[in-house]
Amino acid sequence: MIALQNERGIIAVDCGGDLVQKMLQAGLPLDRLEAIVLTHAHPDHVCSFPLVMQRLWLSGRRRSIRVIGPESALSVAKTLMSVFQLDECDGMPRIDWQVVSRDSVGQPLGLDSWRVTVSYGEHSVESIAVRFEDPLTGSAAAYSSDTEPHDNVIALARGAAILVHEATGSGPGHSSAEEAATVAARAKVERLLLVHLPPSHAINGASLERARAVFADTQLGEEGGRYPF
Ligand SMILES: [Zn+2]
Ligand SMILES: [Zn+2]
Repeated sequence: MIALQNERGIIAVDCGGDLVQKMLQAGLPLDRLEAIVLTHAHPDHVCSFPLVMQRLWLSGRRRSIRVIGPESALSVAKTLMSVFQLDECDGMPRIDWQVVSRDSVGQPLGLDSWRVTVSYGEHSVESIAVRFEDPLTGSAAAYSSDTEPHDNVIALARGAAILVHEATGSGPGHSSAEEAATVAARAKVERLLLVHLPPSHAINGASLERARAVFADTQLGEEGGRYPF
């Protein structure tokens, strides 16, 4: 999960854990959360969406929230909301669902806080990569979500200050650390953060060194880490 904050508001990406708890730990005010992007319909990216909505509701938030993603991801989020009958809770913030499709590529999504654009990576289900540009400074960050190394992600991330790229490991639908570094180098970003690391073992020093040989400014993303840009 990632949250992007500027003076205009906050956009969060994916709900694979307790997003609200993490936001509170990070000192991010819940009422400034403008939108949540759900990149794809896998459980590690969408499973805790109802928990997030319940916690927002319990926090007293009543302002509506935009939830953005491919149809398949939003469909899972809606199903989870109905499983827990949260859509029937009195005072639950209204959800403004915004479906993105391949027609949305390159089109700003019309948010107030960040200029957000998406493109499609290559994963076992439809999955979007997301670019966030500060409307005042033009400074940008991009997030690959789950994908093989892909030209669409390179184009989306071009010139960004930070690329957050998955490094689950080489294979269909995912990328190794070295492959992520190749994407960063080709996109000419300033800095690469590797996330979505293999569940069974951390990235070892050797694979991080191989990535740094391709793209020097490569780091492992840290839980709770803050990355100004
Ligand atoms: Zn996935
Ligand atoms: Zn994943």
